[in-house]
Amino acid sequence: MPESRLKQSILVVFSFGFISFSVNFMEKIKTFTLPKLPYDYNALAPYISEQQLKLHHDKHHQAYVNAANAAFEKLDKAHSENTDIDVKAISKELAFNVGGHLLHSIFWENMAPAGKGGGGQPGGAVADVINMGFGSFERFKKEFTMAAASTEGSGWAALVAHPCIGRPLIMQIEKHNVNVFPAFHILMVLDVWEHAYYVDYKNERPKFIEAFWNVVNWDRVNKNLSLVK
Ligand code: MN
Repeated sequence: MPESRLKQSILVVFSFGFISFSVNFMEKIKTFTLPKLPYDYNALAPYISEQQLKLHHDKHHQAYVNAANAAFEKLDKAHSENTDIDVKAISKELAFNVGGHLLHSIFWENMAPAGKGGGGQPGGAVADVINMGFGSFERFKKEFTMAAASTEGSGWAALVAHPCIGRPLIMQIEKHNVNVFPAFHILMVLDVWEHAYYVDYKNERPKFIEAFWNVVNWDRVNKNLSLVK
C-alpha cells in the first residue's frame, strides 16, 4: 500500500441515501465492487425483464464501478510517483462514475418484485412526507413521472430530502451528476437512461416509467427516509 494512502485515524461516517458506511482512514481505502442484486434477475418481470436487468446490472453498472476504480488508481499512481495529473479531467471522471455507481446501488435497492415488497402505495413516514410535500400520492406520482419523462438525454428522477428544508423535493439528474443538490439524501431513484429500458420498451420511456411504479420498494424508501437526520 502506498504511503500516501495512510491517513489519520479518523472514523468518518458518510451517508448517501441508504448507503452509510464508515471508513477508518488507517485502513486501506477500498475500491468499489459491484453489489449483488437483492432479488433474482427475473424477479422484476414483466416490468423489467431478466435480459434487461442482467445487461443493466452486469454490464452498465459494472462499467461505472470499473471506471471509478480506474480513476482511483490513476490518482494513487500520481500521488505515489508525485507526478502531475489533469485534476479537471479526473474530477469530471469521478463525478460521473462515482455518481453512476452510487445511483445504481440505490436504484436496485429501491425496487422489489411486484406484490412481494414492490408496488402499491407508500405507508409510514414516507406517505406523510409525500402528502405534506406534494398534497397527495397521486400528485407526487405525476410530478415524479414528469421529471423522469422530461429528463434530457440520459439521467434520473430522484425523490430527495434534507433537514435544511422541511419538504421533500424531486431532483432531475442529468447524466449522474448534473442538477444535483449537494448533500441532499436520496430516498428513491429511477434510472431513465436508454440502457435502463431499451431492451423491454425500445424508445417508449413513458411505458417504462409507468411499469416502475409496480416495483417500487416503499419499505426501502421508508428506511432511506429514516436515515435523514
Ligand atoms: Mn443505468
